[in-house]
Amino acid sequence: MDSETIRKKIQEVKYPGFSRDILSFGLVKDVSFEKDQVFISIDITTSDDTIPEKIAQSLKEKVGTIPGVNEVKVKMEITQPENKAGTNDSNANTPDSIEAMQKVRFVIAVASGKGGVGKSTVSVNLACALQEALKRRNKPSKVGIMDCDIYGPSIPLMLGANGQPEVENNLILPVKNYDISVISMGLLVDEDTPVVWRGPMIMKTIKQFAENVNWGALEILVVDLPPGTGDAQLSLTQTIPLDGALIVTTPQRAAAEVARRGARMFEKVSVDLLGVVENMSYLIDSEGNKNTLFGEGGGENTAKALNTELLGHIPIDPDIRKGCDAGIPIVVNKKDALATSNFISIADKILDQLYAR
Ligand code: ADP
Repeated sequence: MDSETIRKKIQEVKYPGFSRDILSFGLVKDVSFEKDQVFISIDITTSDDTIPEKIAQSLKEKVGTIPGVNEVKVKMEITQPENKAGTNDSNANTPDSIEAMQKVRFVIAVASGKGGVGKSTVSVNLACALQEALKRRNKPSKVGIMDCDIYGPSIPLMLGANGQPEVENNLILPVKNYDISVISMGLLVDEDTPVVWRGPMIMKTIKQFAENVNWGALEILVVDLPPGTGDAQLSLTQTIPLDGALIVTTPQRAAAEVARRGARMFEKVSVDLLGVVENMSYLIDSEGNKNTLFGEGGGENTAKALNTELLGHIPIDPDIRKGCDAGIPIVVNKKDALATSNFISIADKILDQLYAR
């Protein structure tokens, strides 16, 4: 018996009703063993008594199969969820969000190692492409975006979703455009709020986004993460129940290195990688030639290093930037653009993975 074997067994225990395991939700506080006994401490916030029981039962079954283990002792610390109106930031890692996001079928994160690679541009266009791909499959096509990039919350502008979110029964209602629901720090905080203030607010805000927003029934929620691979991003991935993550990178080698670091973060919390999107891959000139302005191979190298798929390339296209600035994403506005078909093909590959689970 060793801690790695125990950890692997704990990862087989899913949160009841979800595809993610209890370790990645951050519920496991402590694990130790002595002779033939294993001790596991769980911290959980729920109002449903059957959930801790099911988790304890499943832990005993799974961990109990390890050779040499005779007894599995599970200590449960159960906290009742707060009222929706009240916020509590004392324990950021409890999955209260599970209850608030009950009607959201899949949650996927869009991450990048650093800023400026087009992560938000990809999130917005991908959300529109997912909507289109879902329609073509005759699936419910409701898609939402949670803009967690509090340092540069640009999603509402890129999607042309203006106005203040309304509050109904103590829950925030997302703002909508093109039938995509958006919630963003950009909609809740005025532009003059200093970024230094936003830093410490990150977890509290994200927790609120997760718990206090009435998303309604959504097929897919796209979470635009802040750039980087620090603690904030890590806690965030534990706060929101993610079904998968994709990494946006540019073709340069340096960018790929940073994206790789970002992706290892998801390994730590055992969130599956859906793949890599290479943005700003090439520019097609007036003669139809491909110009690889920023080098080549960043996406391929990142995908290979992370043992995941390269989902596609997005060209540099002035219409992508114009679409972002005007609040009309290229996927909505230019159905015949190469970027649009590439976004839809990426969306299809993501849907194939999500529905295959
Ligand atoms: P990030 O979220 O990674 O900081 P953004 O999505 O805000 O980056 O993109 C930065 C800028 O680059 C924006 O002005 C956006 O319109 C532009 N941009 C992103 N991807 C492309 C592309 N493929 N072609 C042209 N412009 C792009």
